[in-house]
Amino acid sequence: MLKRVASALAGLACLVAASLPAAAEYPERPITMIVPFAAGGPTDIIARIVGEHMAKTLGQAVVVENVAGAGGTTGSTRAAQAKPDGYTIMMGHMGTHGAAPALYPNLKYDPAKDFAPVGLAAGTPILIVAKKDFPAKDLKEFVAYVKANEGKVNEAHAGVGSVSFTTCTLLQSIMGTKTGRVAYRGTGPVLNDLVAGQVDFACDQIVNLVSQIQSGNIKVYAIATEQRSDTLPNVPTSKEAGLPEFQVSAWNAIFAPKGTAPEIVAKLNAALVKALDDENTRKRLLELGSVIPDTAGRSSDALHKLVESEVARWTPVLKAAGVTAN
Ligand code: ASP
Repeated sequence: MLKRVASALAGLACLVAASLPAAAEYPERPITMIVPFAAGGPTDIIARIVGEHMAKTLGQAVVVENVAGAGGTTGSTRAAQAKPDGYTIMMGHMGTHGAAPALYPNLKYDPAKDFAPVGLAAGTPILIVAKKDFPAKDLKEFVAYVKANEGKVNEAHAGVGSVSFTTCTLLQSIMGTKTGRVAYRGTGPVLNDLVAGQVDFACDQIVNLVSQIQSGNIKVYAIATEQRSDTLPNVPTSKEAGLPEFQVSAWNAIFAPKGTAPEIVAKLNAALVKALDDENTRKRLLELGSVIPDTAGRSSDALHKLVESEVARWTPVLKAAGVTAN
């Protein structure tokens, strides 16, 4: 009996010894960060800024891999199913980890259960933007014009389940409109087509838009937050501009697959927190209008709670709007 216990204990010790050094020595090679949208959009921009500093702390490259499609759910599924060894993580957002379950009845991952949340990277206010010769000078005229020309006007978004799709679904339901809606692989390409005048309007995360707004290449009607943004102080809030019901904000956050060792998640979280405290990283994020999470909002636990509350928040809104992907 004693012998058997001793050998079981020895086996256990071997297992522990095999997993501990892996976590202690992590990372020993580059880390892939999946961005579930096209390059050049908000998720990609935030992943690259934050990832660059995390790489310095971790002593290994953080390589962004763009896995676009199905409103971010293709890349998120890939990340959820990746080996939970800390070498594949992802930059998700309010769409992939908040809205998607309501839109995809057959979603292959549960945002709250199939990931080990690492931490929140940035808050991103939402703006209503349009091509520069869109015939409306302010938000009231925009709403009137879209209502009057529902059949002619096209909205662009990053696919069913994305932040742009979700927030413009809310906007269209407030306006009582059903315009044409054109899907892209991310809002990087949406912005290109908006600048080129190929599509009419979009709802998007601020980090994508600041420079094109400042250079007058697109029109902006409102920011959907309580307060104006310091980065774009001339842009009225939706409340000031006459559409107070349109209050919505998004966020981007890092996730590892479920089953990733807690020591590894802690290392990733510490590297993220260090990036968010770095002066240059902060400056870059702030210049793009993002909101840097406060200390309490940076923990894995805070992100887990955020995901649960976002899924609960978006499910009734999207069900009421009557949209699903499959
Ligand atoms: N901002 C996009 C969205 O609408 C995605 C992207 O980052 O390109 O979800």
